[in-house]
Amino acid sequence: MQTSTAKSPIHLPISDKCLQRTPGDDAAVSAALLSPISGGSEIISEYEAELAKAFGQKEAIAVSSGGAALIAALYAAGVRAGHEVVLPPTCPLCTVYPILFLGATPVFCDTYADNFGVDVEDLARVVTPRTRAVIDVPMWGYATPVQRLRDAARNHGIATVLDLAHSHGAQMEGRDLSAYGDLSCFSTHERKILSTGEGGFILTNDERLASVVRSYIKFGNLNGRDFGLNFKLSGVQAALGKSRLAHLGELSAKRRSNAEKLAAGVKREGVRELDILPGSRPSYYFMLLRLSFADNRDFIDHLDRHGIPSDIKRYGCKALYEFPALKGFTRRCPNAEALLASVTTLPVHPGIGDAEIEHMISVIQKY
Ligand SMILES: *Cc1c(COP(=O)(O)O)cnc(C)c1O
Repeated sequence: MQTSTAKSPIHLPISDKCLQRTPGDDAAVSAALLSPISGGSEIISEYEAELAKAFGQKEAIAVSSGGAALIAALYAAGVRAGHEVVLPPTCPLCTVYPILFLGATPVFCDTYADNFGVDVEDLARVVTPRTRAVIDVPMWGYATPVQRLRDAARNHGIATVLDLAHSHGAQMEGRDLSAYGDLSCFSTHERKILSTGEGGFILTNDERLASVVRSYIKFGNLNGRDFGLNFKLSGVQAALGKSRLAHLGELSAKRRSNAEKLAAGVKREGVRELDILPGSRPSYYFMLLRLSFADNRDFIDHLDRHGIPSDIKRYGCKALYEFPALKGFTRRCPNAEALLASVTTLPVHPGIGDAEIEHMISVIQKY
């Protein structure tokens, strides 16, 4: 892990990725190499037990990526070719491609004006007899109204799948966000809060759903009856994940403290933190600023010129149906479009120190 203090010089541009080196990495990987390391080995079960405990869910299933987690979760939720899956157009391409992979149709649903959650009133407008699931994606780790969504989804008879790739450690009413999904999907890609290089996992409290997921990621247990693919995580990655999981709390606390320092320091008209839902705690994958300038992109460019990167610029964030691959699924979502056009991200990962924070504050103040 990189660290810096107020006295050390900062290196511009500020990195938006934390080089994750956690005490115990080397020992954990070396020890893993003394035992079998396939996706069916003992270390996988140990990692899964630790994940379930850390996030307070009955079942955890380690998989090879966040994308694999979404495919397996949607499959377990009963999504097959010809079905529909509802999701907001504010999420990354990574969330929608798994739906297409299964031969299902993505149906875009608007968000709230001030929050990335699926608006349950708009959900009611798009649900059909072919709908099997709704996916909510708390972008950059800011909690969505998950209880309201789950109640609505249950009334419609569809599954709630949470894409928590940004949200390791995010909470609602003192519970981990994953407690509110029928199935919750995580990525442990290098850039995410918990990293195994590549990887992911699924959490659920439902033993039946868990057993469908376990079968799907192992070629249907090779029984020749149930379909499946190989989406297993390797033992070396599981060893790293297990070791790093023990540090997740302290690393999350550092993110939160960085975000609090920024929130306290930024006093510029037109800039504030995105509203945090009452009773919730963001994971602070990134800090989200809500902008109200005549030209928000000009502000983002100003930060970029001063070495402060933005996910909005990095990924060219726009409503998913504006990308060529998804034009055919266009359903205009005005809140979602306005929300995406009025936010930007600040890095608050554990490698960010006081000098970087002071730099970010001063660049914002000078705009
Ligand atoms: C990173 C990410 C994914 C995909 O995870 P991979 O591990 O890269 O496959 C899915 N959804 C969201 C919201 C993500 O940020």
